[in-house]
This record gives sequence, C-alpha cells and structure tokens, in this order.
Amino acid sequence: MSGDMGCKDCLEKLDPYLDRELEPTEFEEVRVHLERCGGCGEAFVVERVFLDQLRGSATAAVAPPGVRERLILRIRREVGNVT
Ligand SMILES: [Zn+2]
Repeated sequence: MSGDMGCKDCLEKLDPYLDRELEPTEFEEVRVHLERCGGCGEAFVVERVFLDQLRGSATAAVAPPGVRERLILRIRREVGNVT
C-alpha cells in the first residue's frame, strides 16, 4: 500500500470518488488521502456540497459548466501550495 497519492491525483478523482465510480483500490487511496490532507479534505467538502446542489435543484443542473470549472481551479490553486 503506497499511501502516497498526490493532491493533484486526489483532486482529479474527487468526482468519480463522489460518484462511486472508482475501483475499490483507488477509492481507498482517495479516502485515505482525504483523511490525511486538510487541503484536499476541504476541497472534497466543497465539491460534495456543489454536487449536492446540482442534484438537489433543477435550475442548478443547467448552470453553465464554467462556474464549476472556476471553482475547481481555485481549489486546486489553494491546495497546490500544500504539496
Ligand atoms: Zn491533498
């Protein structure tokens, strides 16, 4: 067990993680990283809330994709400093 997933990898897998689309090993790697890494843990919470909002509201579901991309980029910039 490597336990060495980087923040970048972790953030890239947040979406499939939330959608339960990862292989069990990947899923576990992300889960472990989120527990150890405060920056990614925070990004995870933001992402989850965002997805919840998307799914919870018909109007949010048609929000321009750019909004989400900007949010993710901002998170990545913040978390990038932690590496
Ligand atoms: Zn991290």
